[in-house]
Amino acid sequence: MNDSAQCPMCPQRFENRTDLRVHLMCEHRKSAITDELLAAVETKHDLYRTIRETRPVGVLES
Ligand SMILES: [Zn+2]
Repeated sequence: MNDSAQCPMCPQRFENRTDLRVHLMCEHRKSAITDELLAAVETKHDLYRTIRETRPVGVLES
């Protein structure tokens, strides 16, 4: 069984999610987590935009 959890914001590992939660609340402030989530959202947005803009044009050849 592998119940360990790794912090998404640093390489630290924890035996369970409760320890990770405490770590996130104490070591990583909410603002930092918000920044991280916003960065993820922006990355996702950029990815979707990239997919739209680079949609293949000539795929109906066969
Ligand atoms: Zn951490």
